[in-house]
Parts: sequence; C-alpha cells; structure tokens
Amino acid sequence: MDDCIFCQIIAGKIPCHKVYEDDLFLGFLDIKPLNPGNCLLIPKKHYRWVNDVPEFGQYWQVAKKIAQATIPIVKADYVSFLTLGMEVTHAHIRIIPRFYEDGHTHGIDTNLVINSTNQEMEALSREIITKINSGN
Ligand SMILES: [Zn+2]
Repeated sequence: MDDCIFCQIIAGKIPCHKVYEDDLFLGFLDIKPLNPGNCLLIPKKHYRWVNDVPEFGQYWQVAKKIAQATIPIVKADYVSFLTLGMEVTHAHIRIIPRFYEDGHTHGIDTNLVINSTNQEMEALSREIITKINSGN
C-alpha cells in the first residue's frame, strides 16, 4: 500500500533502525519509544491485523527472539507485547522492554514516550542485531 508508512519502511523509502530482518518479517526500533529498546515487528507483506498473518506462530517466535536479545542489553525486568493495531493500519507487534519502576503501571501508557537520540538508537539497534546474530 502506497500510503502505508510501514510499507514505505519495508520498501526502504523511509529509514529505520533495523534490529531484525528475514524473508517475512522486519523488526526495527520504534521512533517513539515507550521504554529503551522498544521495537516494532511487522510482516513484509501488508496485512491489516496481526491475526491476519498466515505465519502467525513464526511471527511470535521472531518477536520472542528480539525480546530475548533486547532484555540483557537494556537490562529489562520483563517484556510486554502489545498488538493494539490502531496507530498504523499494517499489522505490528510492539515489543516493549519493561522495568518494575517504569511508570507504565499495570498496562502500557502510550503517552509515556522517552527521549532517545538518533545516535543512541543507532547504537542500540546495532547491539540488538549483534546479539541476535550471536544466537543467544
Ligand atoms: Zn503496509
């Protein structure tokens, strides 16, 4: 879809801080992170909802892979996965590292965007890629 921001990222028309890529999925840092290491994982084909993705199990396996790689890097206590799907009409799993004192309380406050410079995000995305590629 031409007017879809995620399709434009997949096409390389909009830059992103990539953390993962295979034939089906692309993972990258959210430019409006709710916590350090907040990633988005999207299918390369445009689907409206997460449950529309045919490779549903594989999709979540990749989400877990990114989460497990990110936890030690940002020293998260645990990870929340969010699939509201309202902001962009292209299926996406938000992978949000969580900290017991992160202020999001029991849910996720989508207004609690943290400041992160382009440089910090570039360094973080490289660390996550390296961790995933190291296979542990
Ligand atoms: Zn799209």
